[in-house]
Amino acid sequence: MGHVFESAPSGRAKCRGCGKKIDKGVLRFGERMPNMFGEGEMTLWFHPVCACYKRPEAILEAMSDAEDAAREGESDSASKGVAEGDSAAGDSASNGSESNDSASHGSASEDFAEGAPALDDSASGASASDDSASNDSASNASPESVSAGDVSTSDGPASTDSRIDPSWISLAESGTEHERLPRLDGAERAPSGRARCRHCRELIEKGDWRLKLVFYQEGMFEPSGNIHAPCAAEYFGTREVMGRIRWFSDLTEADLEEVAALVNRD
Ligand SMILES: [Zn+2]
Ligand SMILES: [Zn+2]
Repeated sequence: MGHVFESAPSGRAKCRGCGKKIDKGVLRFGERMPNMFGEGEMTLWFHPVCACYKRPEAILEAMSDAEDAAREGESDSASKGVAEGDSAAGDSASNGSESNDSASHGSASEDFAEGAPALDDSASGASASDDSASNDSASNASPESVSAGDVSTSDGPASTDSRIDPSWISLAESGTEHERLPRLDGAERAPSGRARCRHCRELIEKGDWRLKLVFYQEGMFEPSGNIHAPCAAEYFGTREVMGRIRWFSDLTEADLEEVAALVNRD
């Protein structure tokens, strides 16, 4: 009963985490679980980043297994090509990689062991701004102030990559360290003023920003209420929520700034 990483053989499967289709040829994560409808097992497919956010234990286990497999030398066959994905590609360039449909667990493992260059991007970005003396935190050198210290906000293109990205480990670990974080499913303006915040129990006024929550059970994510944006810090135990909100919502930069200001309000 092992989880899997593989190149999507078609573009038909939908991601359980975000509900969108997983493009053909991109790396997808399969969480294996007992089949609730019959014999054997079933597989829930995710964009890897969606799994990091919503099924962190499962994907951490899979990444750990992949690392172990690589260390044991199981991936002895040459497996070039799968790692050719351009980590800088934007969402619209997702079909650029030449990964083939037979990409194996082993090849993914090897790529993982070699270490992807993605983490170097932020370092080079930081060194470019060394002349600003006030920059005391290289890891927060992102030009997007919206990120509010959440290092995971600019990882969008990662989902269209074709190999395991080491930065996914910290994404997933944030969800195991703060056990309510995987419930976060984005942000929206409250369409009515009738629902109460799951944290403070006060009404969320119509038009106010609210953070959507989902509850995971037996392979399904069900809507399970909302909280005020300023209640996030107490409810989740962290303010590092903007990466998830950006990932699971379709908000403008201006909207994201508004939400970030509320999340960071004292
Ligand atoms: Zn997804
Ligand atoms: Zn509240």
